[in-house]
Amino acid sequence: MDKKVENVIIIGSGPAGLTAAIYAARANLEPLMIEGYESGGQLMTTTEVENYPGFAEGIMGPDLMMVTRKQAERFGTRFVTRNVTKVDFSQRPFKIWIDEDLYQAKTVIISTGASAKYLGLANERRLLGRGVSACATCDGAFFKDQEVCVVGGGDTAMEEANFLTRFASKVTLIHRRHEFRASKIMVERVLKNPKVNVLYNSVLEDVIGDKGVSAIQVKNIESGAVTEIKMDGVFIAIGHKPNTDLFQGLLDMNEVGYILTKGKSTYTSIQGVFAAGDVQDPIYRQAISAAGTGCMAAIDAERWLESQEEH
Ligand code: NDP
Repeated sequence: MDKKVENVIIIGSGPAGLTAAIYAARANLEPLMIEGYESGGQLMTTTEVENYPGFAEGIMGPDLMMVTRKQAERFGTRFVTRNVTKVDFSQRPFKIWIDEDLYQAKTVIISTGASAKYLGLANERRLLGRGVSACATCDGAFFKDQEVCVVGGGDTAMEEANFLTRFASKVTLIHRRHEFRASKIMVERVLKNPKVNVLYNSVLEDVIGDKGVSAIQVKNIESGAVTEIKMDGVFIAIGHKPNTDLFQGLLDMNEVGYILTKGKSTYTSIQGVFAAGDVQDPIYRQAISAAGTGCMAAIDAERWLESQEEH
């Protein structure tokens, strides 16, 4: 099946991809977005978003994505609600497959995001967004004067534990070993914080609660003892995984698979392929910063296309 060569194909439909679509559509590039079966990205699993500018009263994560998608559609973005299965960026036009269907594009914006890692407990999943979270910056403020725990021993866990003491009355840090992977300075900060209590050699066994979290079960892996602890919130901070399996070996990435972008741009190691949002950002990981880089990617793609046509 022959399809036209698109000006820009955007892969991924979180805040970065949708913002890129709005900008590209308003620049008359007629973007095609391959949004995936599970469109909307990580905000689809959050409840209230209070830190996205423009919503004084806050907005539910899925609602924010729905209205942003409508905004992209209003300017002519076309959507394909399927998952990309293969790409070939070795020559132009770039090739993108969804099963047997081939799409071709002069530029590609990758905004496939990252996924928080979870422990895989059934109740952790059931209570996600209802007391269980993977983002203290997003959800910490909901736990004023309450008791929360953080699972993990890396820099994210340290940062989240410290941050959460601004709101919570007590923060229990649960780590499976006795040594932390996190940098010394971050660990020291946490250990010095009187609101933080550390459970070493411990794993979260279960999250208890009906509509919200009421307690957790923690197992000490040395003694085997399981303890139930009253708890209002559970923050999982065991790392993120960028969604870049499709692009392995094609684009320059860091050691854990985040796409590398050049300088203050969204340029990747292949001319004409741009990356925006969490897929290239292990540091900030916010909806608004993702949206910002989505805007940058659309402008980068537009200017790059223009420069190609001049030649
Ligand atoms: P990391 O991979 O560094 O740490 C993950 C932590 O989670 C480890 O302590 C690991 O334990 C633990 N863990 C992993 N899987 C499980 C599991 N199934 N059950 C229990 N515990 C588990 O991820 P981070 O998100 O902390 O950091 C990612 C990167 O971002 C790092 O390079 C970090 O330095 C950086 N970063 C920097 C910050 C800063 O400088 N301000 C802030 C945040 C992140 P174990 O140690 O036993 O493997």
